[in-house]
Amino acid sequence: MEDKPYFCPNCRSNRYKFSRITTFSTPFRKDAITGVLLEKDEPVIVPDVEDIIQCQVCQFTGNEMRFIKQAEREPRTQTTVPTMYT
Ligand SMILES: [Zn+2]
Repeated sequence: MEDKPYFCPNCRSNRYKFSRITTFSTPFRKDAITGVLLEKDEPVIVPDVEDIIQCQVCQFTGNEMRFIKQAEREPRTQTTVPTMYT
């Protein structure tokens, strides 16, 4: 995952809440005749697969690049917080 801002290209309201969807590989062995699952190993993360990001507001999923590109197109403007509360 890159240390860059995300912006959901679908709902265009979320820059904050996301899920990361990773691809796991779970090796298993099957009985060749009955098809019964014999044993299953622990799932391992598949390396070199691009991260899929899900927007937690609209549930849109897409690859990480789409979220980064959208944030680059529409960067968050720094808003100065009024100091009247201090
Ligand atoms: Zn969204």
